[in-house]
Amino acid sequence: MNPLDNDIKFISGVGEVRAKLLAKEIGVRTVGDMLYHFPFRYVDRTKIYNIGELNEANTSGGYIQIRGRVTGKNYFGEGRNQRFVIYIADQTGKAELIWFRGIKWIENKFELGREYLVFGRPSFYRSELSFVHPEVEPIEAALSRKENCGLQGIYSTTERLSTALGTKGMYNIIGKILDNYADRITDYMPQYMRQRYGLVTLREALETIHRPTNPMALKQAQFRLKFDELFGLQLNIQARRAARTTAHAGFHFGRVGKFFNDFYSRLPFPLTGAQKQAIKDIRADTVSGCQMNRLLQGDVGSGKTVVALISMILAVDNGFQACMMAPTEILARQHYATIVKMVDGIGLRVAVLTGTTKTKERRETLAALAAGEIDILIGTHALIEDRVQFASLGFVVIDEQHRFGVEQRAKLWTKNDNPPHILVMTATPIPRTLAMTLYGDLDVSTINELPPGRKPIKTVHYYESARLRLFGFMREQIAQGRQIYIVYPLIKESEKADYANLEQGFETIVRDFPLPQYRVTACHGKMKPEDKEESMRQFKSGEADILVATSVIEVGVDIPNATVMVIESAERFGLAQLHQLRGRVGRGSSQSYCVLISDEKLSKESRARLEAMCQTNNGFQLAELDLQLRGAGDVNGTQQSGEIIDLKIANLAEDNQIVQLAQQAAVALLTADPTLSEPQHQPLRQLKARYAKQEEVDFSVVL
Ligand code: ADP
Ligand code: MG
Repeated sequence: MNPLDNDIKFISGVGEVRAKLLAKEIGVRTVGDMLYHFPFRYVDRTKIYNIGELNEANTSGGYIQIRGRVTGKNYFGEGRNQRFVIYIADQTGKAELIWFRGIKWIENKFELGREYLVFGRPSFYRSELSFVHPEVEPIEAALSRKENCGLQGIYSTTERLSTALGTKGMYNIIGKILDNYADRITDYMPQYMRQRYGLVTLREALETIHRPTNPMALKQAQFRLKFDELFGLQLNIQARRAARTTAHAGFHFGRVGKFFNDFYSRLPFPLTGAQKQAIKDIRADTVSGCQMNRLLQGDVGSGKTVVALISMILAVDNGFQACMMAPTEILARQHYATIVKMVDGIGLRVAVLTGTTKTKERRETLAALAAGEIDILIGTHALIEDRVQFASLGFVVIDEQHRFGVEQRAKLWTKNDNPPHILVMTATPIPRTLAMTLYGDLDVSTINELPPGRKPIKTVHYYESARLRLFGFMREQIAQGRQIYIVYPLIKESEKADYANLEQGFETIVRDFPLPQYRVTACHGKMKPEDKEESMRQFKSGEADILVATSVIEVGVDIPNATVMVIESAERFGLAQLHQLRGRVGRGSSQSYCVLISDEKLSKESRARLEAMCQTNNGFQLAELDLQLRGAGDVNGTQQSGEIIDLKIANLAEDNQIVQLAQQAAVALLTADPTLSEPQHQPLRQLKARYAKQEEVDFSVVL
């Protein structure tokens, strides 16, 4: 057994009670878990501040040290509300140390007039400086302690855990572990690799990450541990990629036939260069003999649908069926309508299947599908139900892939004995590092150009108080024959308050637009599908001037005459979502506008998001910024929780170069030794296994 798998409770100073707490609060059960519970920040314990130099700006919530003499103490309140305060001072100022709990234990530890070192997080109240529950030690004792001479790690903890252990307690446990286990840490990385990639040994890295001797050594330790994490992930991704390309022979779409030629000659517009390139990529994949797994990313309005359609037609020309899955009913119906119109007259059989398809129609469609009488099937999640059986499914398109869970996609896969080619499309650009990590086994085509003639959307940010101005602007636009979206946030379908917002908003609009010639309609997830559809139809046909909606219209809806997108409570939307919503306008040749309405009170982050929206229309830039603002874990939103990567130390927003290096290293290693069978590589299986469970569903087969 690996000594690092030993139960944490056997470390002296831990015991049963604390072990339970560690497991419950931060998931630490073994010695190894604790070693891999890295500090998230470090404080420089050589630095002792003068009290007088501290202010809110230069401390901003971080831990710091001061030293001061005790000038007095006091008690406030009674019982559970009791508060104990120690007053201290240095030559430059004074501060209060405050305890709400454990007062009995702390009150006798101080001597009037004696000097102490105080370590904690300062807070300022009416310019009074105070520390709540700081760590305090007599100055002589503090300065003689070894770990107080350099950088000290700060560990993430919980309230219960920090009450029971504190930073010092945590530090002691780590210290004991390092003292007893350091020489039992074996490195799975062979020496030649450490040399090639400039990595310190695992032992050195783990020791240093907890007890850095100097900033340089800390950097090296962090580099090693980040590398391991990303390399472990890449070993899995690249292995899957390799397995995929050898495991399945892909269907061969060698023929460019009648359907393709007919369609191409009828296209109402020339394809953009980027669209042509994407089609070239797909054509190359579909004659390669391997199954295609391609991600097509392109900003909203860049024309992905036609690329998908051409690919599906190619499949049909080669005797296969194709299907396209969209995340919402509205979008599936819209795709169906668009595609039917585009292929009119060339003899393709296109059908649609969604959750609301009537029983009789469903039965007929399913029978036709199984008999091979349908060429292209468009639909929602309904497509993945077991009863949906194809005669010969050759090509699958998944639109707005981030909306689908991994398992949902995995199901489409099993519709055939042989895997169809798969094209996943997203208008939510994924920053490169994230793509390499999340979708490292996909090939990527990027549509980085919009069809010609589009005017960039003008985006402005108004506070609530500018609403009258907004209404004036809306009237002007409607007078010019334009249509307007007004979107209210809807974070969860069940949030009643959001509907209240929307309903109230709807009423306000109806009330504030009393002129009978303005027609307002509404669309949200709580409505019956028929009502939703009717409402969309009214807006699409121009019968309604204003559509009040929740973010159900976020993806894909295409109504060129709608040129104004008003987003209410814009601060509540994420950047990707805002960009998607904005993408609903700017689809025709007239100037389009996006108006972001927000509260006056904004967090720093919300403000940054709204500013970014006003500054750029470029989805890729926004995606990069989103990654910086939110950190990687969150970027793809909750829908993708199965794929969110739980990284302990690497940061996809910052560690670009390490991501790339780790990928190269994984490819090089697997090329040389695909099964990690060489003795010097065998220990690396351990690392690979650790990150294998990141994706429990094998989505290699789907993506
Ligand atoms: P998205 O990439 O957001 O899915 P769509 O496929 O919905 O974009 O395309 C947006 C609009 O642009 C559609 O109305 C489509 O007909 C049109 N379009 C697509 N390609 C071109 C092109 N090459 N030239 C002109 N218009 C195009
Ligand atoms: Mg689309």
